[in-house]
Amino acid sequence: MGIKASGARHSCRAASPRRKGAGQECPAHYRRVLLFIALLLSALSWPASGARAAAAEAAGLGPYPPLSAVYEEISALASAHPELASLEVIGQSVEGRPIYAFHIGRQDGQRRPEALLTADIHAGEVLSSRVALGAATRLLEDDGKDPWITSLLDRTDFWIVPVLNPDGYNRVIVTGGKGGDIGTRRNAHGVDLNRNYTLAPGAHSRHPLAGNRRPRSQYYMGPGELSEPETSAIAVLADSHDFYVSISGHTVAGKFLYPYCFTKRAAPDREAFIRAGQAFAARQPRVKYKVQQSYSWYPTLGDMDDFLYLRHGVMSFTVEHGKVAHNLKYALAHRPVMFWVMNPIDADQWVMNDRDALLAAVEEALELTGGKPLPLPVPAAAAGQ
Ligand SMILES: [Zn+2]
Repeated sequence: MGIKASGARHSCRAASPRRKGAGQECPAHYRRVLLFIALLLSALSWPASGARAAAAEAAGLGPYPPLSAVYEEISALASAHPELASLEVIGQSVEGRPIYAFHIGRQDGQRRPEALLTADIHAGEVLSSRVALGAATRLLEDDGKDPWITSLLDRTDFWIVPVLNPDGYNRVIVTGGKGGDIGTRRNAHGVDLNRNYTLAPGAHSRHPLAGNRRPRSQYYMGPGELSEPETSAIAVLADSHDFYVSISGHTVAGKFLYPYCFTKRAAPDREAFIRAGQAFAARQPRVKYKVQQSYSWYPTLGDMDDFLYLRHGVMSFTVEHGKVAHNLKYALAHRPVMFWVMNPIDADQWVMNDRDALLAAVEEALELTGGKPLPLPVPAAAAGQ
C-alpha cells in the first residue's frame, strides 16, 4: 500500500500546473482528491503498520510480553541469583536471535543429573514460555525456603530454554497474534521445528498433521533432518549433556504426552513414562491433564520427543498446557481468535497449575532412571547412529 500511495502522489506531481500544459489535466479539486487518497493510503500503509507493530512489541498481548521483555526478564532473573543461575546462549535462530538456556544448579563443583525443559518450539504457543519461566522462578526464588525445591536442586541440574523459537515468538507478538507470512507455528524459514528432528527408523504417516514435505504446509518438515538452527541447537545440547528427562512445552490440549510419537507400538519404557505423567497430574492443583501416548492423539514425524528418546535415551515428554474449552469464551469475543484459543487470558492461573507439576515429573523421572539416560530403546545401528 505504501507503493500505491507514492504512486498517487507521483501522478499528481507529474500533472503539476508548473509543468507546461499540465494545469488542464489536474485541476485543483482533482489534486485535492488525489492528495486525500494519497494521505489515506499512507495512513494505512507501512509506516502505520510499523507503528502498530512497535506498539504491539512494546505492549505484548495481554499477559504475554514481547520477546525483548522476556529476554530482560531472563537476564534479570539470572543476575538476581548468581549463586544458582547462569545464562547460556545455546544457538542462534534463523534471524540471528540468541536462544537462551538457563542453567540452574548448585555451583559447588559436584556433577548432578541433568534435566531439560523447553518451551515455545511452536511460535504462538506462548503460554508454554510463561510456565517454563514460572518453573525457573520457582527454583531460583524458593531454594532454601521450600524444602522440596531445595531437595530437588540438591539432586538435579536444570537446563531451561524458555523460547526455543524466538523469531516465531517475536513475529506472533508484533503481528498482534496473527504471525504474518509463516503463521503462528513455524520458524523464520517456515519450518515446523517439531517435525524437523531426525526421523525414527521406518517412520512414515499420511496423517495431515504428522509432517509435510510441502514448504507451504504449516507442518513443513524442512529441507532435511535438523536443517534448522533451532533444532540443531537442541541436538548439540543433547550431545554434550546426559539428560535423563526432557519436557517440551506446548499448548493447548491439556495433555501429558509420552513416546512413541511416530508409531502406535508401545515404547519399552511405557510404564515408567506413565508414572512420570501421573506424578505430573498429581501435582496439578486445579486442572489435571490426561496422560497418553503421543501417537494415540495423532502421529508425528521428526518430533523432538522421539529424537531425544531414540537417540539419547532421554525420558521425553510433551505437555500441552491449558484447555481449549477454558479459553473459548474469551477467544470468541477477542481478536485474533486463534491466538486466544491457544493462550488463556489468565496465564498466571495456568502457570500456577503447571509449574510444580513439571518439577514433579522431573523428580519422578529422576527416581525412575537414577538420573541417567535410559538404555536406547532401539539398537544404535537401527536408529542410524
Ligand atoms: Zn505445539
